[in-house]
Amino acid sequence: MREREYKIWNPEMECMDREQLVKLQGQRLKETVKRVYDNVPMYRKRMDDKGIKPEDIRGVEDLKYLPFTDKPDLRDQFPYGLFAVPKHDIVRIQGSSGTTGMPIVTGYTQHDVDVWTEMAARSVTMAGGGPDDIVQVCYGYGLFTGGLGLHQGATQVGAMVIPMSSGNTQRQINMLKAMGSTMLCCTPSYALLIGETVREMGIDPKKELKLRAGVFGAEPWSDKIRARIEELLNIDALDIYGLTEMAGPGVSCECLYKCGMHVNEDHVIPEIIDPDTLEPLPYGEKGELVFSTITKEGTPLLRYRTHDLCRLNPEKCQCGRTNVRMDRIMGRTDDMLIIRGVNVFPSQIETVLMGIPGVTPHFLLVVDRVGPTDTMEIQVEVTDEIFGDTVADLQSFSKLIYERIKSALGLSANIKLVPPKSIPRFEGKARRVQDNRKL
Ligand code: AMP
Ligand code: ZN
Repeated sequence: MREREYKIWNPEMECMDREQLVKLQGQRLKETVKRVYDNVPMYRKRMDDKGIKPEDIRGVEDLKYLPFTDKPDLRDQFPYGLFAVPKHDIVRIQGSSGTTGMPIVTGYTQHDVDVWTEMAARSVTMAGGGPDDIVQVCYGYGLFTGGLGLHQGATQVGAMVIPMSSGNTQRQINMLKAMGSTMLCCTPSYALLIGETVREMGIDPKKELKLRAGVFGAEPWSDKIRARIEELLNIDALDIYGLTEMAGPGVSCECLYKCGMHVNEDHVIPEIIDPDTLEPLPYGEKGELVFSTITKEGTPLLRYRTHDLCRLNPEKCQCGRTNVRMDRIMGRTDDMLIIRGVNVFPSQIETVLMGIPGVTPHFLLVVDRVGPTDTMEIQVEVTDEIFGDTVADLQSFSKLIYERIKSALGLSANIKLVPPKSIPRFEGKARRVQDNRKL
């Protein structure tokens, strides 16, 4: 490792003594609780219902008394119900898929954008990035936080940023080569596709590319995929985690020791809870990851249930950082899938299908990975009437479903119409998803 790879963006915050950190968190938590109690009717009601006043929260140890927040709350309060400041103070909106047709949105004040930028800057620095780097950002730009998040972070550390957004793999590779990009930011599956295409194009990454690190996240992956990407592109591949509700990418990121993602605990407090009893679990135990924002002004959230399964490790890392590290995400407590970087809930598909006459409420979503690319097939059970139609009619019916799914999810799916009663029925919870991907 070169010397600059040991750099820490904000040593004061990232290497703070834990006792001092907990004190700081407590202070910020108290301010946040007061802010939401005074400005967000949903939180005021929930705290009143539990008989808690902001003064009752004395520090991090009292976190467990606060109410949880979940995705449906963001949907129910859409678009502005959870905003804790006047719209006048909001400078940005970002969003993500909700469980039904509408996205969930969060608002940022300039201070919130700065905090998010700081977290992403720490992440880029963890990967060894700095002013000498040329950072190619191939996450999507838009409501999705990936593109702008890494863009802002890499700009903050003084790197030269190439805002490619995702797609057009050959062009991405031509730019990697021509510009001499040293860092790549995208989803791990896209990194894999870029790596495989580089090899198909006969490019030797050691000789013809200058890449040395990549920051990959927004979807689950594994050490096996890491090894493959590292080999294909001759880089260090690091895991970065984030979610729109907390700001975006950079909530946590791995350092070059690759032993868990450092959580930016001066801005968010992580907890692990038992998803059934909702009781907090000690460090080291696997459970659902829950976050509270403690510096956010626009849409501060208390105890937000991510539904991501994870484990926390508070030991100091060899890199010198003292903040808690989270393991790779080990799964979900709900049925959310991430397909080509897009969050998909089977309920969204159900909503679309239910709006089309001739379709029964039975479908099966089959997800697979062909090479590095996720594929999605929806087997849709249709009525006798539809199934008896001519081939041409069936084709145009499939096309209609394809278009509706594409516009609701932003993803193309292969639609397969199947005869009545051919999709298995369940007495308990229906299993509508068959995920064949081996990550
Ligand atoms: P979004 O708000 O659309 O960016 O989606 C956030 C969700 O993406 C998280 O709750 C996780 O389920 C998933 N996610 C983000 N980063 C990672 C990562 N590094 N590993 C696994 N899942 C991730
Ligand atoms: Zn470290």
